[in-house]
Amino acid sequence: MKFCSECGNPVKNEVPKGDNRLRHVCTHCEIIHYQNPKIVAGTLPIFEGRILLCRRAIEPRLGYWTLPAGFMENQETTSEAALRETLEEAEATVELEGLYTVMNVPEVDQVHIFFRARLLDGNFGAGEETLEAKLFTPQEIPWDQISFPTVFQTLKHYISDHPLDYFPVHVKDILRDK
Ligand SMILES: [Zn+2]
Repeated sequence: MKFCSECGNPVKNEVPKGDNRLRHVCTHCEIIHYQNPKIVAGTLPIFEGRILLCRRAIEPRLGYWTLPAGFMENQETTSEAALRETLEEAEATVELEGLYTVMNVPEVDQVHIFFRARLLDGNFGAGEETLEAKLFTPQEIPWDQISFPTVFQTLKHYISDHPLDYFPVHVKDILRDK
């Protein structure tokens, strides 16, 4: 951030009184512009034992496979965001079956949340940001072509939990070099 969104004057980096972190502080109106992590919400859609993945039509990780997910919008709940992203990216209508993974990605200031979901009618397609959508059996998952560590981890958890038919919520930190 270079300029104040309130008054247009330059901002400086400083630790405000009583705080312990660097913030963008306006040099003119002295407003403190706090920045906080963004939430990415998505689903793990299942249909007849197979997992719905989307091949990305956009950067980053163009051409790699992902679970339908994206940034939450304002005024939205996490489940609404997950359902919307699933409809937009995979043209799929799903029913959520519970929170499944919560992953902190401090390096990029994001938190990724995935819900297990049931693909209702078996219909899906490629949305604007998707090259193709496809159902994979656990054995067919293209592990070396998965877009992001949080998607990789969510799929790994599902593969281990599925045979037990027990799906606890997994909370994980995705750290650099791990
Ligand atoms: Zn200002």
